[in-house]
Amino acid sequence: MSEPIVKIAGLHKAFGDLEVLKGVDVSIREGEVVCLIGPSGSGKSTLLRCVNMLEEPTQGTVEAAGHSMTDPDVDIDAARRDIGMVFQQFNLFSHLSILDNIVLPQRRVLGRGKAEAVANARRQLEAVGVEGKEKAKPAQLSGGQQQRVAIARALAMGPRLMLFDEPTSALDPELVGEVLHVMRRLADEGMTMIVVTHEMDFAKEVADRVLFLSDGVICEQGPPADVLTDPKTERAKGFLHRVL
Ligand code: ADP
Ligand code: MG
Repeated sequence: MSEPIVKIAGLHKAFGDLEVLKGVDVSIREGEVVCLIGPSGSGKSTLLRCVNMLEEPTQGTVEAAGHSMTDPDVDIDAARRDIGMVFQQFNLFSHLSILDNIVLPQRRVLGRGKAEAVANARRQLEAVGVEGKEKAKPAQLSGGQQQRVAIARALAMGPRLMLFDEPTSALDPELVGEVLHVMRRLADEGMTMIVVTHEMDFAKEVADRVLFLSDGVICEQGPPADVLTDPKTERAKGFLHRVL
C-alpha cells in the first residue's frame, strides 16, 4: 500500500469559543475522489481550508501532497503549489484578462518563462472548453465559464491534489453541468480530489467515498451507494432526507 496523499489526524479547529472540528481523522489515497457533505455550518469549508492551511488547526496534524502542513517548518508556498483550490465565488483577478489570470501565477509562483506559461495556459483553457476569451475580463464571461477558468488556473500550476469548495453553488442551474463535466473528466484522469458539494448526483457517480460531517466529526463515511442511499446514522438520514 502506498502512503496516503492526505492524512488528517486528530484535527480540531475552534474559532474562539466555537468548536467547529472536534477530532477529524481522514486518510485519502492517490487518485481518490472524496465528496464531503453535511449541513450548512457543519465545518466543511473549515476542514477543507485546514488541508492547505488557509485555516490553522487548533490541534492535530495534516499531511497533504507530501508536505507536513502542520509542521511549523513547512514550506507553505511549495505546499500550495501542489494543492490547487477552487472556491464557490471563482476568485479570479477581475482586473486581469482570462489569459493573464492563468499566466501570471505560473510566472510569479513557478518562475516559468512567458512563452511556456502562455502555451500551458492555452492548453488548460482548451481542456476546460473556454476558448476565444483570452483577452476578455472575467466579468464578461458567464459564471460557468469563470469557474472553468478558475479550474484551469489551478491546474496550470500542476497540483497533485485539488480542493473544491462548493464549486457550483454560485451558478445558475443551467451552468452547473458544464463545471461538473470538467470535474468529472479530471477525476477520470486520476486527479486526487476533495469536493465539498450539495450535488448528490455528482457524488453518487464520481465519488469513490463520501464523508458526512456533522457536529464536528465525520459521523459516517463509505462508498456513495452506501452513505447516500442507505445511511446508518440518524443525523445522515435526516440530512439526506432534506436534500435528496
Ligand atoms: P460549512 O462550510 O459546512 O457551511 P464552515 O466551515 O464555513 O461551514 O463554518 C463552520 C462554522 O464555523 C460556522 O458556524 C461558521 O460561522 C464558523 N466560522 C467559519 N469561519 C469562521 C471564522 N473565520 N471566524 C469565526 N467563525 C467562523
Ligand atoms: Mg462552506
